[in-house]
Amino acid sequence: MRVVITGGAGFIGSHLADRFLAEGYEVVVLDDLLTGNTDNIAHLAGNPKFKFIYHDVTNYIFLEGNVDAILHFASPASPVDYSNLPIQTLKVGALGTHKALGLAKAKGARFLLASTSEVYGDPLVHPQPETYWGNVNPIGPRGVYDEAKRFAEALTMAYHRYHGVDTRIVRIFNTFGPRMRIDDGRVIPNFISQALKGQPLTIYGDGSQTRSFCYVSDLVEGIFRLLHSDEADPVNLGNPREMSILEFAGLINEMTGNDAGIVFEPLPENDPRRRKPDITKAKRILGWEPQVSLEDGLQRTIEYFRKKLQE
Ligand code: UDP
Repeated sequence: MRVVITGGAGFIGSHLADRFLAEGYEVVVLDDLLTGNTDNIAHLAGNPKFKFIYHDVTNYIFLEGNVDAILHFASPASPVDYSNLPIQTLKVGALGTHKALGLAKAKGARFLLASTSEVYGDPLVHPQPETYWGNVNPIGPRGVYDEAKRFAEALTMAYHRYHGVDTRIVRIFNTFGPRMRIDDGRVIPNFISQALKGQPLTIYGDGSQTRSFCYVSDLVEGIFRLLHSDEADPVNLGNPREMSILEFAGLINEMTGNDAGIVFEPLPENDPRRRKPDITKAKRILGWEPQVSLEDGLQRTIEYFRKKLQE
């Protein structure tokens, strides 16, 4: 079995590469390293079942040999990254998804799209089930990512319905763990690096907005199960434990022993007020739910960032 992972040098992509290799698959990673990093896959160099190809997947993908599955994970995914890289984000969601689907069709491979809770925008339904259509501002700063992923979902379903490609769509909620970029601007790398440097944590707005954080190994397990299921409609994967950003900052300061406190900064435009996955469907069809507690996941992530800061 041979699997292609676009964005495989990124945070989630590289963990998927590890998982598929551990399951005996051959793994081909395509990545242009725009937000990914070869550090994340350096430990795989020399593995005869692993191959890295430097490639921007918005361009035609030529690959010899059979392919059983394509996991399309290439995209900037942090709000800071996608607002700095708006055109690249739209291109990889649109043109990149088109090329990856084209490869799946040509090879007769199964295709799995990494979609996002951002398709729900600033949700008016809480928690968010897959049946909710979302509340997205197409022209806001987050629109470049949200609309790219919404288009990617539509294109995936079109290839499924019109070309009969065997497709899967995972809607990924906030995920964290080792190999996140320390400077990617998301709340977990920001808070942990600030705390480890003894600085106050930067809370955007009043911190009453909520998120629900899933540890990466749980997410990878869910994706592995989804790929091997027969569900073509979108499936949410995430941890339903919801907390405010203020509570979250308190937890990070406590776990790291940081006594520098918090500071308040302006809330970015269109920042979702609340977010929590409804995972009833994943439980039912995949028998999946998160196993790693927030505290355990954070402990492992803090250790990872501690080492990174010493490098
Ligand atoms: N956030 C924050 N301080 C930071 C970074 C982010 O308070 O240093 C907030 C951000 O405004 C949002 C939440 O934390 O409400 C999660 O932000 P993140 O960038 O991780 O991803 P999002 O869930 O918004 O896509």
